[in-house]
Amino acid sequence: MTDSLVNGILKRDLRAVARAITRIENGDPENSLLLTELFPHTGKALTIGITGAPGAGKSSLVDRLALHYRELGHRVGILAIDPSSPFTGGALLGDRIRMQALATDENVFIRSMATRGRMGGLARGTADAVSILDAAGFDRILIETVGVGQDEVDIVKAADLSIVVLVPGMGDDIQAIKAGIMEIGDIFVINKSEREGVERTERELIALLEMDHRDDGWEPPIVRTVATRNIGVERLAGSIDRYTSHLQAQLAAGLPPRRRVGMSRQRLLEMLGERLLQQFLDGLHEPDRLDRLADSLARRQVSPWMAIEQLVPAASIRSISHLGVAVSGFDEALRFWRDGLELEVKELETVPDQGVRVAMLPVGESRLELLEPLTPDSPVGRFIERRGPGIHHLCLEVADLPGILGRLRGAGIRLIDQEPRPGAGGALVAFVHPSSTGGVLLELTQKGSH
Ligand code: ZN
Repeated sequence: MTDSLVNGILKRDLRAVARAITRIENGDPENSLLLTELFPHTGKALTIGITGAPGAGKSSLVDRLALHYRELGHRVGILAIDPSSPFTGGALLGDRIRMQALATDENVFIRSMATRGRMGGLARGTADAVSILDAAGFDRILIETVGVGQDEVDIVKAADLSIVVLVPGMGDDIQAIKAGIMEIGDIFVINKSEREGVERTERELIALLEMDHRDDGWEPPIVRTVATRNIGVERLAGSIDRYTSHLQAQLAAGLPPRRRVGMSRQRLLEMLGERLLQQFLDGLHEPDRLDRLADSLARRQVSPWMAIEQLVPAASIRSISHLGVAVSGFDEALRFWRDGLELEVKELETVPDQGVRVAMLPVGESRLELLEPLTPDSPVGRFIERRGPGIHHLCLEVADLPGILGRLRGAGIRLIDQEPRPGAGGALVAFVHPSSTGGVLLELTQKGSH
């Protein structure tokens, strides 16, 4: 399935491209395989993000830009992305009549993606769709967002360069959108520039841009366009070329591709989040636990913070702290463990109320704990009398000892210590009875917690 799809995409079969993007939207588990196979065939396209307020004429501008690139012989992919819409599969296209010249051109691929909650992270889903178009030989990819907001900013960040589209007479709107949008604009377009107020909008824009100096030395140009009449589109394409040269010059000078690093990081974080979430959900012992907690939360029987604590076990096991070995006498035991195996004796102490002498021998991250009874009627003395010397107990280090004891109590596990008690070196310890563990005396410890 994936193989034929990969072949289809590489052979520039538009139906294969469309199917692959649908799989991205649906979060198909085979996607990572598909994208991995396509990866060597990507990295050639220039991706251009276009965002701006609704009604700014972005679609017309994108269409004009696409036509311009077609005239130059480029193959053009257009992704229109609406983060807020729950619909998928061309819902937007129906509302908007694309230019006939583009709709019938087999070197143009137009796709709407309505993405909320479907494909996982927005930036990731967009980047995945871009990869598919890139592998299919589309060398100019225009990513158009429908609205303007933080989601749109994230989407446009997935592009090599971003164009922010404004219209005259939106003075207040400039103020409103500047927080997120101004800093991502590599090129600013004032579309519908035949309208009144264009001078003022441009002045306000210049004032805003002057407040914010970029450390890559690029001064974002402002381009006036009237997309519906194809005015200014070539100037815009010229600005895009200049910015692309600027990026290439920076790379040639050995400067890091900041934007690509930033978006790669974002992509990795999103993928990590999705993977860890899936691992966590797969690993839940009771699959309906999430639903039951949601139910309790809805009935206000639990706070959201308590629900999370119950869902994510903080009392995770960290490592094997040590293995306790009961010995009849240190002299004989050390002849083997210290002199024979050349383990180092780090600590040697007497614990009178346990009736025991303890020697700690580090083994990598873990330790051996040799236990010598002070008297035959001490716990370790009685252990040796009953079973002879040998492995006495296993100790696991945990992150939250009170938490894990609570869970074990709740599960009916027999505990020797109901509550944590102070152990050596400021640690907390508690023992679990062998009758509940299949014969292992289990010590749990939490490091330096008091
Ligand atoms: Zn121990």
